[in-house]
Amino acid sequence: MTDAGVLVVGAGISGVACAGALHAAGVPVRVLERGRVPGGRMASRRLHDRYVDLGASYLTASEGSVFAEVVAAWHARGLAQPWTREFAVADADGLRPSKPGPQRWSAPGGLRSLVVDLASGLDVRLGSPVARVEPRADAVLADGERYDAVVLAMPDPQARRLLPPTAHAGEALRPEGWEPAIAVVLGWAERRWPAGLRGVFVNDSPVLSFLADDGDRRGDGAAVLVAHTTAELARQHLENPDAATPPVADEVRALLGIAEAPEWTFAHRWSYARPTPPHPEPYLLAGPIGVCGDGWGGASSVGAAWTSGDALGRDLAARLGHAAGGTARVGAVRPASPAADGVV
Ligand SMILES: Cc1cc2nc3c(=O)[nH]c(=O)nc-3n(C[C@H](O)[C@H](O)[C@H](O)COP(=O)(O)OP(=O)(O)OC[C@H]3O[C@@H](n4cnc5c(N)ncnc54)[C@H](O)[C@@H]3O)c2cc1C
Repeated sequence: MTDAGVLVVGAGISGVACAGALHAAGVPVRVLERGRVPGGRMASRRLHDRYVDLGASYLTASEGSVFAEVVAAWHARGLAQPWTREFAVADADGLRPSKPGPQRWSAPGGLRSLVVDLASGLDVRLGSPVARVEPRADAVLADGERYDAVVLAMPDPQARRLLPPTAHAGEALRPEGWEPAIAVVLGWAERRWPAGLRGVFVNDSPVLSFLADDGDRRGDGAAVLVAHTTAELARQHLENPDAATPPVADEVRALLGIAEAPEWTFAHRWSYARPTPPHPEPYLLAGPIGVCGDGWGGASSVGAAWTSGDALGRDLAARLGHAAGGTARVGAVRPASPAADGVV
């Protein structure tokens, strides 16, 4: 038996939230992440000497929610900042202002810095892909290592691949139904679009779905835009995401009236950008296998992913005999009742 009672696979925000809840309850927990950095789809990549947000554009938090308290704490420490309530909308009639929406939050250090913050103090091992998770009568094997329970904190298609076809948990996971997207970063030497643009929801375009002013949201004023493609365009270019750059750059320039071509570009593929639709249940806990993330809880968002991971971590800790702040005691994971053995 390893000394880590629970293994969380995936250090996106849901996996780190789940591990944090388990750790707070005194459960030994280890996180294995295949990437070189945590964050998953809250990705911030260093391009031309600054971080650019390549995945999630911003986060929102429902008033009164526990996640809102997490965001408020980040704000108090200068890690998150209120960005905007208003974006432009683009459609056949051109650009117009949107109605005010929820407060969108950004992070001066890039959204990934928030996941890094949540991960501090946890046993997170990077560059550690997990290939196979096998439920056994009294434990779970993850690449041959024994754990009391394993949480897969990732999109369904990725989680399914790790489980044997006979695993009970795998039956509830969808092999398909996730949309891809390509993020295209466009950089200029100076800003060439209207001040206060912030971002644009693009309707009825075969190419673009959303456009963000990265210099505005990060607060450094850099002349960098990040465009997200439609799922249709992404499907055409999943093998070679760079091929999405010319149509995206052309459409962005036409939309904002920018005469000059961008001076540099960068394209990133998201094979599983968002679930269509997410499971309505907050997470899955089938015996000793848990699954959480933005594929659960009815809305694909950073806040939904955190909420799913946190709730699964608390439930799992309770089933392992730990309450928040309690004494560590690791035992085999059993469902609370036969009825609870399945989608929660
Ligand atoms: C282009 C785009 C735009 C978005 N815009 C917004 C937005 O504006 N606002 C918003 O709220 N949300 C947005 N989202 C959604 C948001 O990013 C996600 O809801 C959230 O980040 C999901 O977190 P997660 O932990 O569930 O999954 P992920 O972030 O996908 O984390 C899964 C992790 O598991 C790891 N992993 C997978 N398989 C293995 C394995 N076998 N072994 C080890 N590790 C593994 C992955 O490397 C990854 O780090 C956007 C997403 C995309 C792609």
